Amino acid sequence: MSKRYYMPTQVFMGEECVKSNSPLFLQMGKKALIVTGKHSAKINGALDDVLEVLSSNGQEWALYDRVMSNPTIESVYDGAAFAKSENVDFVVAIGGGSPMDAAKAINLLTCQDIPKDKLYEGQYSDKILPMIMVPTTAGTGSEVTPYSILTNHQLQTKKSIGSPILFPRIALLDAKYMENLPKEITINTALDALSHSIEGMLSLNANPITDSIAMESIRRISLCFESLKSGQLTRKERFELLYASTLGGMVIANTKTTAVHSMGYSLTYFRDIDHGRANGLLLGEFLRYIEKSWPERVNEILSVMGMSTVNEFITILDNLLGEREKLTDEEIEKYASIAARSANVKNCPIVPGREDLIQIYKNSMNK
Ligand code: NAP
Ligand code: ZN
Repeated sequence: MSKRYYMPTQVFMGEECVKSNSPLFLQMGKKALIVTGKHSAKINGALDDVLEVLSSNGQEWALYDRVMSNPTIESVYDGAAFAKSENVDFVVAIGGGSPMDAAKAINLLTCQDIPKDKLYEGQYSDKILPMIMVPTTAGTGSEVTPYSILTNHQLQTKKSIGSPILFPRIALLDAKYMENLPKEITINTALDALSHSIEGMLSLNANPITDSIAMESIRRISLCFESLKSGQLTRKERFELLYASTLGGMVIANTKTTAVHSMGYSLTYFRDIDHGRANGLLLGEFLRYIEKSWPERVNEILSVMGMSTVNEFITILDNLLGEREKLTDEEIEKYASIAARSANVKNCPIVPGREDLIQIYKNSMNK
């Protein structure tokens, strides 16, 4: 079976890379739709930098700053209605995974008339506006993925729309925007990136290129475990985490995620547990489950982090996660049924059945 690696997004990285790449913005169009969350982009300097570039280029913009964490389907239709009324011809997303994902879906719905009940059918034309992404968390890698993950109230879960047309054209990586990212968000997002790279190595779609990228991402994140725990990260470590997160995005853009993400979505949907934390809570016990039938692969992952047992890894995760949320048996049964129906649970060569999922939830949450 042949496998492929594809990455059309141009990545620019380094201190002040937004302002030093102002000609890139000029090539994109005349009027930008800027998509952000409510607060952080206005405080961390990212919005100021983008506005300075657009002004000096003589470009116009319309600001859509209503993106909530875990954006819903309804919210991206709202964003698209705004974008259409503003006649924008390119998109700049600034923020964590939520604004970046929302921007992709808003873009799609601005360019194409897709009724809500057809959104997941994937019958899209090629019409899309060019996108620039400025991540301000180091976790999702959405700046280099073709996915937009939306909260779907009808299905009571989060579900991804994916298409090659959703790959951003440009990603601009500057860790200076993460200088004041709170400790908890820094940890959660780092665990999300770690989960992407580990799940990528356990995916049916893994190949030598994604493996190489994933191992480099895991290695860089593991070197920051101690600083993550203390909450004292240098600018250099912030860059390391940002690069590692973009590498993780390059991995899942090709491999997709597996059971950890499928299981984590219920923790977010029903218990409001942050996306990265949800994955961090489940990752250790998922590795223990895989180890039973694929020990050499799990060893490969552990050795990149300088570890020899899954227990060692779980101790590190415990240190970063603190006290774990508890689930009732009813919750576990419900979440396992939802995860068992998800597409991504089948991306790993070892597919956990419903009973396995129940056990992973129990071992992860109710220890
Ligand atoms: P997020 O929901 O984008 O942001 C979490 C919080 O961090 C928000 O309150 C945000 O504030 C704040 N924040 C962001 N940047 C900050 C900064 N530099 N300083 C201070 N605060 C900051 O969280 P995320 O973990 O980055 O993204 C999670 C979403 O991404 C989930 O919906 C998940 O499903 C999705 N995801 C997508 C992919 C993909 O491939 N597309 C992969 C993994 C996850 P504001 O709201 O004010 O901005
Ligand atoms: Zn994720």
